[in-house]
Amino acid sequence: MMDYYNGRILLQPNEIPKEWVNILPDLPSSMTPLINPMDGKPVPPEMAFAIFPKECVLQEVSQEPTIPIPNELREFFAKTYRPSPLHRALGLEKDLGLEGDKIKIFYKNESVSPTGSHKPNTAITQAFYAKKEGTEELVTETGAGQWGSGLAYGCNLYELKCTVYMVRASFIQKPGRKILMRIYNAEVHASPSKFTESGRKFLEEDPEHDGSLGIAISEALEHSMRSDKIKYSLGSVVNFVLLHQTIIGQEAKMQLAKIGIEKPDIVIGCMGGGSNFSGLMIPFVKDKINGVHPDIEIIGAEPRACPSICKGEYRWDYGDTAMKGPIVKMHTLGHTFIPTPIHAGGLRYHGMAPIVSILYNNKLIKATMHHQTEVIRAGIKFTHTEGIIPAPESAHAIKEAIDQALKAKENNEKKVILFNLSGHGFFDLLAYKEYMTGNLVDYELPTEEIQKALASIEMPKIDDTQF
Ligand SMILES: *Cc1c(COP(=O)(O)O)cnc(C)c1O
Repeated sequence: MMDYYNGRILLQPNEIPKEWVNILPDLPSSMTPLINPMDGKPVPPEMAFAIFPKECVLQEVSQEPTIPIPNELREFFAKTYRPSPLHRALGLEKDLGLEGDKIKIFYKNESVSPTGSHKPNTAITQAFYAKKEGTEELVTETGAGQWGSGLAYGCNLYELKCTVYMVRASFIQKPGRKILMRIYNAEVHASPSKFTESGRKFLEEDPEHDGSLGIAISEALEHSMRSDKIKYSLGSVVNFVLLHQTIIGQEAKMQLAKIGIEKPDIVIGCMGGGSNFSGLMIPFVKDKINGVHPDIEIIGAEPRACPSICKGEYRWDYGDTAMKGPIVKMHTLGHTFIPTPIHAGGLRYHGMAPIVSILYNNKLIKATMHHQTEVIRAGIKFTHTEGIIPAPESAHAIKEAIDQALKAKENNEKKVILFNLSGHGFFDLLAYKEYMTGNLVDYELPTEEIQKALASIEMPKIDDTQF
């Protein structure tokens, strides 16, 4: 009997975490710096300060175990969408035939933010710092449009100009997100665009170029260098973005504690650049590293069409296609790699957060891959049983949670499974339509293609021994 709570576990506004959890001091192997592509040496702080909000640069390398969340931000979160709810997936459990209380599935619902995903957690934060530091404009790239929407919302809030370079394929296929960004007063360009040198280069090759996240990053970076009043904003991959997302995992931990659950057995998230997954798992992996809960299993789910962790190589690579930005040590499929346009646009990035890469190399987290048809099928099951249409990205986590629950059932195990519902799928209905009409196809990325992209990487010599 579920008489002690109704499956939706809430926190009070004053229970929003007071600090972000920084995993850097706990990493088993040291964090590598961002490398300047001009000389193969670490990006000097002056250069980083010129690109990103200063506070974010300091957070990027901070060794403090926690970093205080400014009160103004906590207040803003409290009056808008945080703390986000934790739900027990009772409908899904029933559908899977999980009798009794042996296997419990919980999900943290980040789809309740104004733009429908976890992205505003860092977008609002970056806009807040930028405004405080006298910046007038933030510029960024976006794939499917969720990050661009988040940043447009954040900038509108703090009266900053917002410019977004949006991957052309999505710009055309997903007009909804583009319109949403424009309602929030953002200027949105299809990338490659004629507004930057990098964009023009790709347009010359092919005037109908589909674009990629890597190309859009190059354009946004170039744009940001035009003035010191313009800063560049990133929605994933870098340490400070993952840090801002740790509100998610801390809240989930408190919510589970409220109903007497000390820890989940399995923590699951989908991985694009790694930010929502990290936001949920970092507080738990910290417990795992420090021996508080050494046996928590942590699993990141990737698309088979873009498996940066599962099939990529851990090496130095450019974060962007035109090689304008810093070189990063991470799991990568190669910066020249342009993934097939699967519907989970937010998971189509060639690289992976260095933090996630390091945790994976040290076997503290695991990774898995799924095809988009099985993912969308899981998304539909979730809609039928829980009522929320998930983003195709989030449906990767749902698919993995279902698989883990069924495995535990078969083995007659007791498990608490926690996954992140990173966003809703209201702007991704085409994926669902294609599934229902039998037009959704699966893509597996051939190993030869990955090897080709990796072999073509050229960069300055980097002396690895210094880190
Ligand atoms: C952007 C996005 C992702 C992927 O990005 P991460 O940095 O890996 O979290 C996943 N889900 C949703 C809903 C997104 O908007």
